[in-house]
Amino acid sequence: MSRSAAARHGLSLRRAICIFAWVTLSLIWPAACWAARVITRIDVRPVPRGTSIALSTADKGALEPKSFSLDDPPRLVFDFADAALDSSLPAEVSAVAPCVERIRLGQFSADPLIARLVVDLSGDALAPIVKVEAGKEPGETVIVVRESGAAVLGAPSTAIVEGVSIVRLPGAGQLRRSVANLADPPRVYADLTDAVIEEACRQELPRGVIREIRMGQQPADADHPVARIVLELREQQAHVVFADGSDLVLAVGPNAWALPLPDYQANNRLKGKRIVLDPGHGGDDIGAPAVFGRSPKGPFEKDIVLDMALRLAKLVAAEGATVKMTRERDVGVGLRDRAEVANRMKAHALVSIHCDSCDAPNTLNGTSVYYDHQHSRGFAGLVQGELIAALGTADRGVRNANFAVIRRTRGPGVLVEVAYMNHEGDRARLVHPNFRERAARAMLQGLIRFLSDDAK
Ligand SMILES: [Zn+2]
Repeated sequence: MSRSAAARHGLSLRRAICIFAWVTLSLIWPAACWAARVITRIDVRPVPRGTSIALSTADKGALEPKSFSLDDPPRLVFDFADAALDSSLPAEVSAVAPCVERIRLGQFSADPLIARLVVDLSGDALAPIVKVEAGKEPGETVIVVRESGAAVLGAPSTAIVEGVSIVRLPGAGQLRRSVANLADPPRVYADLTDAVIEEACRQELPRGVIREIRMGQQPADADHPVARIVLELREQQAHVVFADGSDLVLAVGPNAWALPLPDYQANNRLKGKRIVLDPGHGGDDIGAPAVFGRSPKGPFEKDIVLDMALRLAKLVAAEGATVKMTRERDVGVGLRDRAEVANRMKAHALVSIHCDSCDAPNTLNGTSVYYDHQHSRGFAGLVQGELIAALGTADRGVRNANFAVIRRTRGPGVLVEVAYMNHEGDRARLVHPNFRERAARAMLQGLIRFLSDDAK
């Protein structure tokens, strides 16, 4: 193991204690037994992604180990108070599965009486998940050490580009994330699933809209560790969040949505899915105009939504799905025909793309996602969440309405109103290609989350 790998490993182990403590706390133990006991048997066997260590006592009472981790070399230590080791037990058991190198047993102390079990971890055992539980037999205690498969996140880097504060978090780009913002004080946070923070941190920034960055471990979601990064802001500002390869980028500041986007890296996440994209309007039906006044000029809603749909189609196809569009050019299509495209191919999902407008210009702005059938409500929520995180637009929420296209579509279908054509701020975004690409990628993330197996 290289020095840096060792250091990285050591730190990650410290973070493992979080998972460790949580797991240990979640157990219910029978009342502690007052008598000294003798550990008579050890049984080590492989389990999926880990090792199970079963210990048995002569008196059939439960064991309640105190556990902690140590670095250099990385190891987990379990101390059994008031316990002695039977002389027949081996001093060492070698590895039988990944992440554990060997297991050592010894009498740590005679007074007080403490037996110690040490689990030496192998080099690739990043942030193992440890469970201690009662075994099937009376007096049996089982320790399971598993690879978490979690990403280990180091400290983020920061930069300010054209007034936009940018936080880059290596290794977090492809993690499942949920992003939200809060007021008092204004802050943006991202929860990252299957991630372990190398070292909890708090970093003050002297300049830019971000006052402070904090990172820490959240309670795990089942066996999945969750890491949180919080950006505390000097003032409320729009934010955008996107993946740049394996990095996660959080950008906060005026016009953060206009930042150029990195190339998209597809990973077959929609393999075998059939998806219909429906750019609204077309032909004589221009949708909403892009400029105010008596003689509206383009680009119109029909042009902007077609561009976003074509971008999304490219991404969806790159992720391995079969994609069909209700129109690929500037032509009119009936509402019934649009839904029929999805019904005929038994699409796994339909996304109808629109831009909003209202009677009085500059009164309303922001993003909303509509569903009609109840079975599309969760889908709408996922798409809306991704859009708000990626675009930093005002959150107008998930809404129920019986628009013809989503009403007539039998499978899951949503109608997205990306932003307002007749609001100055929203319109500036809609006519910017980087914003439209962001919108397409956000809708793609919503589709991936909705159609991935673990979302069901
Ligand atoms: Zn429309």
